[in-house]
Amino acid sequence: MTRHGHECVFCRIARGEAEASLVHGDDLVTAFLDINPVTPGHVLVVPRRHVASLGELEDPEAARLMLVGRFVLGALRGGAVRCEGVNLFLADGEAAGQEVSHVHLHVFPRFAGDGFALHGDWSRFPPRAELDALAARLRATLP
Ligand code: 5GP
Ligand code: ZN
Repeated sequence: MTRHGHECVFCRIARGEAEASLVHGDDLVTAFLDINPVTPGHVLVVPRRHVASLGELEDPEAARLMLVGRFVLGALRGGAVRCEGVNLFLADGEAAGQEVSHVHLHVFPRFAGDGFALHGDWSRFPPRAELDALAARLRATLP
């Protein structure tokens, strides 16, 4: 994938050059069905601009990404597909599971027994002092 997204499949979809089943399009973002859905109705919302990381988006693009994510959530909950709940998921960086280096917000329906699971070590409850110290370090770097 080039820096400017010439080979990027999501850029090609956003430009209408690659096939996709579109569910939304506006000046900043486009949304389409994932070709390899976790559950039926799995949508990807992507900025039109080729940007790899959520952190590199302009604020209006990031805001629109979430707004359209919410619209899609509403549509999924509206009855078109089996939907007892919805997950929004965004992998930022290879270590986080990002496979396509063009920002994409996953929005997919959930239902009992759908087989989806996020694995991790959820066993630890750190002491408050440790949490407070870490929160302070993060606060210091937030805009
Ligand atoms: P990631 O693992 O990067 O968070 O998710 C990438 C997602 O993009 C995967 O769910 C994958 O199925 C989807 N995807 C990859 N290539 C294409 C494509 O050409 N068209 C569509 N619609 N989805 C794609
Ligand atoms: Zn791209």
